[in-house]
Amino acid sequence: MTVDTARFATRAVHAARSRETAASRATPIYLTAGFEFDDFDHAADHFGTGTGFGYTRTGNPTVRAVERQLASLESGADAVLVASGQAAVTAAVLSVVGAGDHIVSSTHIYEGTRGLFLDNLARLGIETTFVDDIADPDAWREAIRPTTRALFAESLANARNDVLDIAAVSAIGDESAIPLIVDNTLPTPALLRPLEHGAAIVVHSASKFLAGHGSVLGGVIVDDGRFDADRAGHNAPHLVLPGRGGLPSVYTRHGGNARIAYVRESVAPRFGASPSPLNAFLIGQGTETLGLRVERQSRNALDVARWLAAHDAVESVDYAGLPTHPHHATARRYLDGGFGSIFTVTLRGGLPAARRFVEEVEVFTHMTHIGDVRSLVLHPGTTSHAQRTDEERRVLGVAPGTLRLSIGIEDVDDLVADLARVLESVRETVA
Ligand SMILES: *Cc1c(COP(=O)(O)O)cnc(C)c1O
Repeated sequence: MTVDTARFATRAVHAARSRETAASRATPIYLTAGFEFDDFDHAADHFGTGTGFGYTRTGNPTVRAVERQLASLESGADAVLVASGQAAVTAAVLSVVGAGDHIVSSTHIYEGTRGLFLDNLARLGIETTFVDDIADPDAWREAIRPTTRALFAESLANARNDVLDIAAVSAIGDESAIPLIVDNTLPTPALLRPLEHGAAIVVHSASKFLAGHGSVLGGVIVDDGRFDADRAGHNAPHLVLPGRGGLPSVYTRHGGNARIAYVRESVAPRFGASPSPLNAFLIGQGTETLGLRVERQSRNALDVARWLAAHDAVESVDYAGLPTHPHHATARRYLDGGFGSIFTVTLRGGLPAARRFVEEVEVFTHMTHIGDVRSLVLHPGTTSHAQRTDEERRVLGVAPGTLRLSIGIEDVDDLVADLARVLESVRETVA
């Protein structure tokens, strides 16, 4: 009996079966849980060697295409796509640290990452030391212990736009064969590629600029492919010792790509934050226009930041693109083609002024997201940074009157007009 002569319910689920391949120019969306094996030996071979595609949690052609695209743009050797930025940070960190190990991290990091270090990893016996002054190399060096297995920082931080001296910090890590993991979400590879400056691993929230349209979540881990067993093997027994059942080590099988191979084989599929192939497609499609969007957003952001800095209702603007920013020189060294589009503005009128601002914007959208084609605003003091102490907020540049802006691709005159109207109203409130 063939499917053609089968009954209704059987034909319903079998008649569309497709094994056709066609040279689709856009990335095809393989929206499938799994892949049919050619024959008996193919299945055994897939399980034995991991080559080819069997089940979408361990590999999918749409996901793979986007991984190649992002590895290329970040000047990396290989990449693994996961379901969110938070999953990318978790997978990257758990590929280099284990119980009893230690992390040195910048204080200027995304609140979700900070919570991961302080709450979740601490419960697994992984301790983190935070560095406040990330521009001081000695502060990093002094925080390193014999058990330190990772340095972690954001290349361009939210909220105060602190810029990491990637070459200096990665050189300090290299002295003890410790990889530097850089969250490069804010500048994106369109403006900055940390692996070219000595970082070993880059992570992203692909939910932001890469996808770009605020429609999906995703994350990616990109590795430089330069794991050196002779220098760093003592810090990475999980990569250089034989696996369960005497399996050759990850390093024996993958050489310099051992770290990212471990993420792909062991960390990402086991912890299980797999991306949907549909979301992968949207991230890949978004990434095709990344350069254009970031160029426009950076230009708009510089115009808006300059305009705000000159306004008398504004106390300060923390944008790395302004010469007044303490890290402007570092930003000029590392960022090529713009200074990004996320920064904070602090209003003179404190909390009441910030409230009025958020309540009256029309072109800007009030929401917790960044890197969208649309311009967005959020009040960090009562939202993303509400769990910090007053002192921590001060270190991070978050005052009661501080607002975080993420500038979109709109016509900049419309953004300025929206802000001019709102600041006029703010001035009346606080006067
Ligand atoms: C949003 C964000 C994350 C977390 O990413 P999700 O995709 O929301 O899980 C991590 N780091 C930075 C810098 C972010 O902005």
